[in-house]
Amino acid sequence: MSHPDADVVAPAAGQPVVLRGGTVLTMDDARTVLPGADVLVVEGRIAAIAPQLEVPEGTAEIDASGGIVMPGMIDTHRHMWQTAMRGYGADWTLTQYFVWYYLEHGRAFRPEDVHAGNLLSAWDALEAGVTTTVDWSHGLQTTKHADAAVDALQAVPGRFVFAYGNIQAGPWEWSAWPEFRDFVSRRFTPGDEMLGFQMAFDVTGDPAFPERAAFEVARELGAPVTTHAGVWGATNDDGIRLIYDNGFATPQTIYVHAATLSEDSYQRIAASGGSVSVSTESEESAGQGYPPTWTLRNHDIPVSLSMDTSVWWSADLFSAMRATLGADRAREHLEAHAKGETVTNCHLRADQVVEWATAGGARALGLDGVVGSLEPGKKADVVLIKNDSSPAMFPLINPYGHVAFQAQRGDVHTVLVNGRPVKHDHRLIGVDLAAAWREIESTVDYLRSELGDEAWVAGMHPDVPETEMLDNPYQYTDYRSSSTHTSRGR
Ligand SMILES: [Zn+2]
Repeated sequence: MSHPDADVVAPAAGQPVVLRGGTVLTMDDARTVLPGADVLVVEGRIAAIAPQLEVPEGTAEIDASGGIVMPGMIDTHRHMWQTAMRGYGADWTLTQYFVWYYLEHGRAFRPEDVHAGNLLSAWDALEAGVTTTVDWSHGLQTTKHADAAVDALQAVPGRFVFAYGNIQAGPWEWSAWPEFRDFVSRRFTPGDEMLGFQMAFDVTGDPAFPERAAFEVARELGAPVTTHAGVWGATNDDGIRLIYDNGFATPQTIYVHAATLSEDSYQRIAASGGSVSVSTESEESAGQGYPPTWTLRNHDIPVSLSMDTSVWWSADLFSAMRATLGADRAREHLEAHAKGETVTNCHLRADQVVEWATAGGARALGLDGVVGSLEPGKKADVVLIKNDSSPAMFPLINPYGHVAFQAQRGDVHTVLVNGRPVKHDHRLIGVDLAAAWREIESTVDYLRSELGDEAWVAGMHPDVPETEMLDNPYQYTDYRSSSTHTSRGR
């Protein structure tokens, strides 16, 4: 397939790079914005940010004019193995998701299927400008699955945090397996900034608190715990209370969703310094509870953003930012209207969601000294949003608003991870996408034959509840015949 700019040469790995003349969103603490500035990257780090920089000989020049230069985005909760089933559950609720993965078919996934999902998901993230992704890997029935998952991540030049989980066994069981300990010591090096480690499990609220054993393993390994909390019908205040009362609520703990919780639980999370990974599109569609940013701010709980799973959604944090602004503002208006009031100024601003998608994610992962902002000395995870053939890239008046509401993944022109170009001129570098697709294809073929055609199709198309037509005191008129009128709503 030809490409309009096939002659453009991407910078080589290790070559200094300068992005010239873009609008730079540094995402530093002062949220400094530098119009018309250059960003110089040398030996994997941000070397300087200023207009018209002098650069070392041999530096690759990228014209960022008309574009936005910002830190790589960070997704703090993503079930990458589920990318093999991309889009399959578009019409699911959380109940259907649980039935399909937890009860019926999650066990069917082999190590190679986890590899296939992770590999495509990892490239998917980089292509969208997401340079750090937490792989919330809860399909690890064996450590062979876990090795396959990490093999895939290491085959892709992104920054990852591997969150080990297994929905087919209790966390107190799998965390006690000798092969789990062996896997951790084989595959992870403490302090590795390219591949971090967490433990991923949920706390059901059983008063016996069997999850204690897993928390103790995590503490011993120095691994932060990430947990689906405040999920309607699954996890609730009891889990938060158990985590907190037993001394396992730490500033490293990430509470995913945290949508259906009491004030008391939010206060416990806030007091212990934990953060919430908000997956707005997921919460809106699957039903964990209302996306909670509108109430998290009242507790000063730090927020990061996530996309959850490609069985519904993609790796696109533009979509997360947009959905989060929408949900937060919708809630604020709704609450006000219920009281007969009008919101004249919104609390949530575009710059805040950009911050959550970058620096907020870095803080949640303890990587804020490394990435999350563009500042000299930090590792160069950099995204250039620029698309000279798009009507939507002009005028560039409000850069935060542009990122949150105007830009999309197709506008991601260049991506650097650790100073290394992984996407340039809108194309991934060094990817064998055909091979990644072949892996996925064989996984899909295998699962489809394991399930059988009937179950496969039924799983994708859950029953639609009947729509109750309301009595209308006005007359339906001639534009609609009585037959279509009665069948409306199926
Ligand atoms: Zn999740």
